[in-house]
Amino acid sequence: MQETIRNNIDRVLERAAKAAQRAGRDPKDITLIAVSKMHPAEDVEAAAKCGVLDFGENKVQELLSKQPLVEIPVRWHLIGHLQTNKVRQAVGKVVLIHSVDSMHLAEEIDKRSAAAGIVSDILIQVNAAQEESKFGVGLNEAEALALQAAEEFKNIRIRGLMEIAPYAEDPEEVRIYFRQVAKLYEELKSAGITSMDTLSMGMSGDFETAIEEGSTHIRVGTAIFGERDYNKK
Ligand SMILES: *Cc1c(COP(=O)(O)O)cnc(C)c1O
Repeated sequence: MQETIRNNIDRVLERAAKAAQRAGRDPKDITLIAVSKMHPAEDVEAAAKCGVLDFGENKVQELLSKQPLVEIPVRWHLIGHLQTNKVRQAVGKVVLIHSVDSMHLAEEIDKRSAAAGIVSDILIQVNAAQEESKFGVGLNEAEALALQAAEEFKNIRIRGLMEIAPYAEDPEEVRIYFRQVAKLYEELKSAGITSMDTLSMGMSGDFETAIEEGSTHIRVGTAIFGERDYNKK
């Protein structure tokens, strides 16, 4: 497994670097988040031994049970939908919450962070394609949410935006959505949200396109750890 994971990481980093170069960007400005959901702690450690420092989980429960099993210090990201009743457990356990999509959720994270005496870094999850099946707010709503949350809450810091593009055989089909989210990201920075430095876009099937459009953080699972087995428990 270690060898497979090492080869996969090398290949992803190489492809990411080439995409960055095509866009005239420095590959160092792109962070690889290895998405370890449904993969065991040993796989996280295997990837960490290859120098990957950032890991993404989409469920609070799985995150909390995996964290103590990983002995190498790594940075955990919560990338999946977060219910308000799970916020208390998640706050303080991750470096970044990628999936804030309502004022109600932002308020809860703010409140729990204040109680813990910390400031939590968050991203607003944008659903640029307005897909019914996905969480996230539309582009216009994302702008309002970011501005309002930045204004009102002192215990969250809005670091940027996150996008999950629709599934497409050909990533060219979803380039438009990455471009729209990147444009909003630049607009919000200009509007004075100075804490913004993170644009989380791109997964196994489309990370090169996302990088070409300005992504700073790619979330890659399958291309590193292989297919997830949804039948296994
Ligand atoms: C699972 C997941 C990923 C990784 O997807 P792959 O296609 O396996 O790379 C990225 N982002 C989010 C939010 C996810 O839930």
